[in-house]
Amino acid sequence: MKWVTQARYLGLHYSPDSSFESCTDELFDAGQRAMYALINKLRRKGLFIPRIALMCFDTQIRSILSYGAQVWGPYFLLQLLDRPRDAEGRHCYFDHAMEDRMVGIQRTFLRTLASIGRVPDNRLLFREFSQEPLHLHWATLVYRFWNKLVRGKNSISHNVFREEIRTALLTNCIRPTWGSMVLQGLRCLGHWPDLPADLDLEGRVDFLSTREICIESVMFTLEEHFKEDWLSPRLLILPRDFVSDGGKPGVKMCRHTHWMGMPHHDASYIPMSVYTSLLRFRLGAWALEVNCPNGRLREQRWCRVCNNADSVEDEYHVVMECPAYTEMRAGFAELGMGQSSNMLQIMSMQDQLGLARIIHSIRMRRSSSMGRT
Ligand SMILES: [Zn+2]
Repeated sequence: MKWVTQARYLGLHYSPDSSFESCTDELFDAGQRAMYALINKLRRKGLFIPRIALMCFDTQIRSILSYGAQVWGPYFLLQLLDRPRDAEGRHCYFDHAMEDRMVGIQRTFLRTLASIGRVPDNRLLFREFSQEPLHLHWATLVYRFWNKLVRGKNSISHNVFREEIRTALLTNCIRPTWGSMVLQGLRCLGHWPDLPADLDLEGRVDFLSTREICIESVMFTLEEHFKEDWLSPRLLILPRDFVSDGGKPGVKMCRHTHWMGMPHHDASYIPMSVYTSLLRFRLGAWALEVNCPNGRLREQRWCRVCNNADSVEDEYHVVMECPAYTEMRAGFAELGMGQSSNMLQIMSMQDQLGLARIIHSIRMRRSSSMGRT
């Protein structure tokens, strides 16, 4: 008989010497390989465009990265949920999710899609493609699984489920067992089920094992905490008055909120060359003076295209002010944008293909005039 240190059962690898959640090692490797293969394949066919690529990611990559999440998911969820808030009272779920290597695969995919090497703030990247870190998907799978176990009365799995709950209650959810981690996660989210006070242990097991989780309300809380930074009062400050102090959310989120708004560009077909200009612009990734601080004060980052030392070159200057692009800006009027339209209205206009073309032509003009100087 061959001696092995690891066995595979129902597609997951287990070993007596390693923690249970290490069964995600193989999923991580497979997911990463599949992601690069998918990118190559879509590129070769000219289909590496957001709408198609994101659908393919969900069906082909996310499904690998979530395989068996019903069982190992609670551990990774608890990594986010069971931590103290930071000094400013933020839950920091998003930041912690970014530290997860599986979410790293997701992030690499989105970055490749936006043709961006380094993203100033991943919040922008995820919002731009209307994506959420994998944890939210795992949470849905875990809570659905719980409810399935509740409904499976008198089955073997239901009896195991009851034992899980009993163990969790006996140890006040401290031990890293499945039931403890799910219940502790609910407690962190403020969704701990209201146990009648007068029940003994058996009564509490009965109570919990027949209680379905209200997935909608738990997910609502979870999502709210994930997007806490987008709801921050710091974002009410106008972008040009925003003073970067290292706190979160930062000025890029502020500019995105006031100038770019929610993305609408996935509704129409936009050729990728033009699309990339638009995406990079919205993400604050153009090499504008304001995006290349080099230790200079904001006032010193004036526009080198119109050479006006009073005009800081930021995204607003490019779209609304800079005289070098007056000709391109005329295109906005042709797309139905009146004289009084503000930047947010322009960036949110219905004809996103038209918008992308204008933004792209501005980029071309900018790089040619920067080349001359
Ligand atoms: Zn200018």
